[in-house]
Amino acid sequence: MTDSCGNRVAPTADQVQVLTDEDGNLSIPEVFACSLEAGHPGQHVDIGQTSDENYHPLWVTWHDATNVEVVRRPPCESGVGEDPDDPRDEAYCLLPDGHDGQHTSGSDWWGEAP
Ligand SMILES: [Zn+2]
Ligand SMILES: [Zn+2]
Repeated sequence: MTDSCGNRVAPTADQVQVLTDEDGNLSIPEVFACSLEAGHPGQHVDIGQTSDENYHPLWVTWHDATNVEVVRRPPCESGVGEDPDDPRDEAYCLLPDGHDGQHTSGSDWWGEAP
């Protein structure tokens, strides 16, 4: 069973403002938790927005709490499940394009280990 990294960080007030300005209807979490596979190389990353309307154009990325950044990157387009009878057919990766580690839908993991 693969676990997510889960490293947690709080965005600054300015970063919350950037995320809120993108779509004022969104609620911005007080703490972000890294969605990458545990043990991944490179920076931590989490979805900066929780809206499904405009699919996750902003991400929060960090090495540690002193260098949190909000970045715009396209989403990873990997999905799992070729069989329409398989509920996993609708699982798409929730990470940004070019991310480290395996793909994840939040519950399922697939692809190459880091
Ligand atoms: Zn991480
Ligand atoms: Zn992916």
